[in-house]
Amino acid sequence: MALQVELIPTGEIIRVVHPHRPCKLALGSDGVRVTMESALTARDRVGVQDFVLLENFTSEAAFIENLRRRFRENLIYTYIGPVLVSVNPYRDLQIYSRQHMERYRGVSFYEVPPHLFAVADTVYRALRTERRDQAVMISGESGAGKTEATKRLLQFYAETCPAPERGGAVRDRLLQSNPVLEAFGNAKTLRNDNSSRFGKYMDVQFDFKGAPVGGHILSYLLEKSRVVHQNHGERNFHVFYQLLEGGEEEILRRLGLERNPQSYLYLVKGQCAKVSSINDKSDWKVVRKALTVIDFTEDEVEDLLSIVASVLHLGNIHFAADEESNAQVTTENQLKYLTRLLGVEGSTLREALTHRKIIAKGEELLSPLNLEQAAYARDALAKAVYSRTFTWLVRKINRSLASKDAESPSWRSTTVLGLLDIYGFEVFQHNSFEQFCINYCNEKLQQLFIELTLKSEQEEYEAEGIAWEPVQYFNNKIICDLVEEKFKGIISILDEECLRPGEATDLTFLEKLEDTIKHHPHFLTHKLADQRTRKSLDRGEFRLLHYAGEVTYSVAGFLDKNNDLLFRNLKETMCSSENPIMSQCFDRSELSDKKRPETVATQFKMSLLQLVEILKSKEPAYVRCIKPNDAKQPGRFDEVLIRHQVKYLGLMENLRVRRAGFAYRRKYEAFLQRYKSLCPETWPTWAGRPQDGVAVLVRHLGYKPEEYKMGRTKIFIRFPKTLFATEDALEV
Ligand code: ATP
Ligand code: MG
Repeated sequence: MALQVELIPTGEIIRVVHPHRPCKLALGSDGVRVTMESALTARDRVGVQDFVLLENFTSEAAFIENLRRRFRENLIYTYIGPVLVSVNPYRDLQIYSRQHMERYRGVSFYEVPPHLFAVADTVYRALRTERRDQAVMISGESGAGKTEATKRLLQFYAETCPAPERGGAVRDRLLQSNPVLEAFGNAKTLRNDNSSRFGKYMDVQFDFKGAPVGGHILSYLLEKSRVVHQNHGERNFHVFYQLLEGGEEEILRRLGLERNPQSYLYLVKGQCAKVSSINDKSDWKVVRKALTVIDFTEDEVEDLLSIVASVLHLGNIHFAADEESNAQVTTENQLKYLTRLLGVEGSTLREALTHRKIIAKGEELLSPLNLEQAAYARDALAKAVYSRTFTWLVRKINRSLASKDAESPSWRSTTVLGLLDIYGFEVFQHNSFEQFCINYCNEKLQQLFIELTLKSEQEEYEAEGIAWEPVQYFNNKIICDLVEEKFKGIISILDEECLRPGEATDLTFLEKLEDTIKHHPHFLTHKLADQRTRKSLDRGEFRLLHYAGEVTYSVAGFLDKNNDLLFRNLKETMCSSENPIMSQCFDRSELSDKKRPETVATQFKMSLLQLVEILKSKEPAYVRCIKPNDAKQPGRFDEVLIRHQVKYLGLMENLRVRRAGFAYRRKYEAFLQRYKSLCPETWPTWAGRPQDGVAVLVRHLGYKPEEYKMGRTKIFIRFPKTLFATEDALEV
């Protein structure tokens, strides 16, 4: 058998990872000594590479022990059938090189140790041979490694796929869109120094020869509140610090910016402008270059930076109260820069920041704002300007990624590979509207996951001609309905309250929830709770029993965040902006009273429904990422934290579904190839059909009828112990 070995220097000894059996290679004075570990002790040491091979597959403890063993050996990848579970090593394991890519190309999924590249290659081959669109869904909590995995996958395709005949630049564009999106959409949080504060779905289009020819990105729910506020130890979006640190003197002068982030109120709240793991200066260089690759002209870069700078200036706008307690702008210098950078009239902007325009009976009324209201309006403007610019940026990147061959006949034969990097389930001490949206998103994806996994299991059984044994599982549709149903779902009720400005409050929203939903097994409030649970719920909270566990949400801010109001005169001002990006972001049609903009939750719901449709139309693959500790440190395996994630990711349920029938299945050819030496009739070669060879082989091995089934192309083995016994027999 051909040995595929990977050399990992570990001090004196060089460990050799054999695809099936670990062994040690010692370099002694007398030559090279190879010590093969027995399969038995290897399993003890490094665990099983597929959770379906766990004897006690319903035990969470056994699951976690297997993860721990593998993690200790730097084996961060483990399968649950076709699903890849990945544990963030928080260290560079040198496992993503070009050699690694090559090693996983064209080989069968199970014949090599689990790896992200095995998923990458399997997905790509399915795309090529079956010509079916694929989607890799990557999930996990913040810091678990989703974005890293997405980047590695993209890199794999960029490096290993053939170059397109025309428009080879698309590969660079696909790669270079990342640093730009990360600059504007990622930030340092307590959980992750490079946390994506938006959800991302990216399509890569391949032509009929398998070359990447285009791409498209969808973004979800940017956390725009970060623009104006950061918790202690967190930062605003990277781009602000990058520009201040890396921007040339001349640029900063033009933008009226000082280098020191401490000068900007929007950057000081978290009190950690500097992060040791981040080099803003060199990152800025990367972003600047990337902007050019994705087709930004110098003018566009200038317009974009003007907007970034104006957000900082906006944050430094101060107000003082006049005798009538009305807010007045006191920071003339900031106003001057804003006027210039945004290309708006100074007096209009000043008025818009301190007044509210109301239209009553066809008449316009200007009502002055007090200090608090003015600060609110200013922050709302900063958030709107930034988040709309982000949306614009995604559109702009999409234009650059759009296949230039869209009109040519080959376009019709393109296939699409989607990569979904989206926030995992979130449970904090304090959960608000954002967590509600994120967790709803996870409910939808979990529902899709169960649906598709069951479907593919069933399809495989049918294709193989094996009777399908129905699997009991928890269907979380009931929770999705609770959130999204028309009229009586939580989002509908929230929207209804948002239609009653002045009257409705967060608490009337809660009351309405209580009145409408009442006795739902997955919904609870203080009023609806029994004596015992009441203690753990405050009056301003509601609790949802998600598939992954209970989460208590505080209703404070729900209405405001859902409404996402920007005063009319601020909108008008921005519509008049001469900055070309701004004028594309603010459209006059918004000003018409007839069209009420969709609320944030409804917009999110619609985009999720669309996402689910996109994903449903594709062949799914899954990467489930786990964060091993909260300290961002290598080598630490925090069991409590990991147990939570195993639960949130629904991994036990996944394993149960996968193991419901058979623990192991393998193509006849592969099975025969591996074990043919165990039977005199099949060794060294079997001349007949592989299926018949396997039949002879397993009879010889004494498999009992209840232990296995023969499908059309594969053998299905019910229990791991049968397989292990066969595997161990190879030793002798
Ligand atoms: P968020 O939801 O906050 O965006 P995420 O799941 O996208 O989190 P990443 O940004 O991918 O998390 O990973 C966090 C950090 O963990 C990375 O910056 C990197 O330092 C480290 N990391 C993640 N995956 C790997 C890996 N496979 N190898 C080495 N380090 C990794
Ligand atoms: Mg991320």
